[in-house]
Amino acid sequence: MLITAMGVVISERNYGENDKFIDILTAEYGIVEICVKGARKIHGKSNSATQLFAYSKFCFNSRGDRYYLNSSEVSRVFYGLRMDIKKLALAEYFAEIIGHCTTTGQTAKDIMRLFLNTLHFLSEDLRSCEFLKSVFELRFMSEIGLLPQLIGCRECYKYQAEEMYFLVDRACLLCGEHLAFKELEENYYHIRITNSVLEAMRFICLSEQERLFNFRLGDKSMELLNEITEKYVLARIDANFKSLDFYKKVCEPF
Ligand SMILES: [Zn+2]
Repeated sequence: MLITAMGVVISERNYGENDKFIDILTAEYGIVEICVKGARKIHGKSNSATQLFAYSKFCFNSRGDRYYLNSSEVSRVFYGLRMDIKKLALAEYFAEIIGHCTTTGQTAKDIMRLFLNTLHFLSEDLRSCEFLKSVFELRFMSEIGLLPQLIGCRECYKYQAEEMYFLVDRACLLCGEHLAFKELEENYYHIRITNSVLEAMRFICLSEQERLFNFRLGDKSMELLNEITEKYVLARIDANFKSLDFYKKVCEPF
């Protein structure tokens, strides 16, 4: 059976002398692993369509329990990623999160859209790496059903408070008053959150995808948002993201 699908390459692995395996993210089938025969021969015809982060039309068929590439046609290559090691590292981190949390056979339309939009903004320099990292992290969590409860304090439902805390491993908010009270009983892992960061988090989780990147945040707030969204990902997804370590390394000043 020949299957045709649009997909974005989220990882590639060499196999044998000339072949490679690619994982593509598709809207209809989630992640699909495809064997690309002769991919590593110079001037192989499917080269640009099957390279990392290429968005392409793939035709593949199944033999045994494997998929083999029949033909491919590139639709979009995010050239901007290849010019900048920091951007490339960040894109690899996004791909690693997706690879860890998405499986074959489940539809992934919203995740694919989020990934492609984020790559577009990253590649074209439309937003900073820090901005895109936080937006992707938090929105991805929402898309896979790990939406934090951001309506208000978990105890009194206050929408805004003088002091508000995000409970990282509980995925909810507590106002200062209720944190002080609760802390006596349990040791919560909490981060104090400002109103502007809370607004940004609500926006990332709840806005339409078309408007997702349409907000601004000052540097200090951005830093706090980055800390929160990254800790949230690491608290809820049990994984060790090598690409995140690499991203942080390339972010360090020389
Ligand atoms: Zn409260």
